[in-house]
Amino acid sequence: MVLNRKQYDVAVIGLGTMGSMALWQLAKAGVDAVGVEQFRVGHDRGGAGGESRIFRLAYKEGPEYVPLLLRSRELWLELNSRSPTPIFHPCGALTIGRPEHPDLAQVFKSIERFNLDHRVLSISEMASIYPQHRLHEGEVGIFDPAGGLLIPQQAVEAAVGAAKNHGATVLEQTEVLDIDADATGVAIATTNGTIRARRAVVAAGVWSKKLLPGRSGRFEIRRSVLHWFGTQDPALFVPGRFPVGIRRSGSDGNFSFFPTLDGSEIKCNLHIDKTAVSDPDAFDGTIDEEYSAFVRDQIIGLVQGLDPDRVRAQGYLDGYSPDNHPFFGDVPGNDNLTVLSGFSGHGFKIAPAIGEAVAEHVRFQRTTIDISHMAFNRQIDDIEDLLERNSE
Ligand SMILES: Cc1cc2nc3c(=O)[nH]c(=O)nc-3n(C[C@H](O)[C@H](O)[C@H](O)COP(=O)(O)OP(=O)(O)OC[C@H]3O[C@@H](n4cnc5c(N)ncnc54)[C@H](O)[C@@H]3O)c2cc1C
Repeated sequence: MVLNRKQYDVAVIGLGTMGSMALWQLAKAGVDAVGVEQFRVGHDRGGAGGESRIFRLAYKEGPEYVPLLLRSRELWLELNSRSPTPIFHPCGALTIGRPEHPDLAQVFKSIERFNLDHRVLSISEMASIYPQHRLHEGEVGIFDPAGGLLIPQQAVEAAVGAAKNHGATVLEQTEVLDIDADATGVAIATTNGTIRARRAVVAAGVWSKKLLPGRSGRFEIRRSVLHWFGTQDPALFVPGRFPVGIRRSGSDGNFSFFPTLDGSEIKCNLHIDKTAVSDPDAFDGTIDEEYSAFVRDQIIGLVQGLDPDRVRAQGYLDGYSPDNHPFFGDVPGNDNLTVLSGFSGHGFKIAPAIGEAVAEHVRFQRTTIDISHMAFNRQIDDIEDLLERNSE
């Protein structure tokens, strides 16, 4: 069955993090686009699950991301103005650790290369401004005032809403089953019939392995476990007093932290486990109590003022590439099939600029911002230590 007779300019497959932003930017540029999502827009089963995300400008993943981050920040603020509730809270971001730690060295490199506003806080300054963090001897805090907290599911909904306002068609609860691309265009078989488009953008996250076997980029599906903690004094954990951040304090002390917005819980992601997952459809995010008890004890040793009796946990998935960089490009041999994948635990914050780059790539076969570190044919140097691949 043909869903409708028309041929769209572009079909975006998957309206999660990257797909929602790509659809928004394509529609804004006047492209006749359709977006197809297997679940409801704004669901929590993909890369946008887990209630909050970090935005950082002083970037440990490398200075090459800073132009994407600067542009994304502008677009996050634009999206904020279109959303009934804020999706970007510009509370700043902290990076905590010893200055010689490789991740802090990278943060300083990003700061220097782009002359980014920042403040280095000594252990005593940290104790007086951010007493929640129990620092170790020799550690410092780097405050990045352009950082902030993102609300991911609402961000996806806001981007899809903006895309619709610009004329995009959105098909929810429609699973793409097969993609057949040739020189004349792309035929997309879905659970609700076939869609035709001049070209397709596959933004199916961890499901892209299933949709385009062997052609979706070299990444592994891995689990990240989030823990939420009740606090003894919620006023100490609001964004202005407990900004988002990451900490590098040894193998059991690497984690990211997120403030409370509603006064009930903060969130932490201890970077100790990235269990491999083969089938995202069979994934169960339930976390066993023994594992949670270990994480609770670690975090309570590093952050004071948490309630050890109010803890909950949930696992989520992302695709991790061997060098921590995502894939953005056309499938070899199919220049009307673009794939975005492997965002390696740090893709959310750059999603709006990636969406804009998709719109440019589709229209002009080039992007304003250099994304060559995401090319399919780049030289990939494997990072041996899985923990080094952890991001947020
Ligand atoms: C726990 C966790 C914490 C993170 N924290 C941060 C952070 O603080 N900051 C940050 O920048 N990044 C963070 N990340 C990384 C970031 O969230 C991901 O890199 C990003 O969301 C991946 O986006 P995506 O578009 O590739 O996948 P998704 O957002 O999962 O989108 C894929 C979409 O495609 C749909 N789809 C799949 N197959 C089909 C099909 N056949 N038909 C139709 N639709 C389909 C899916 O339903 C989904 O909606 C985190 C990731 C995780 C898992």
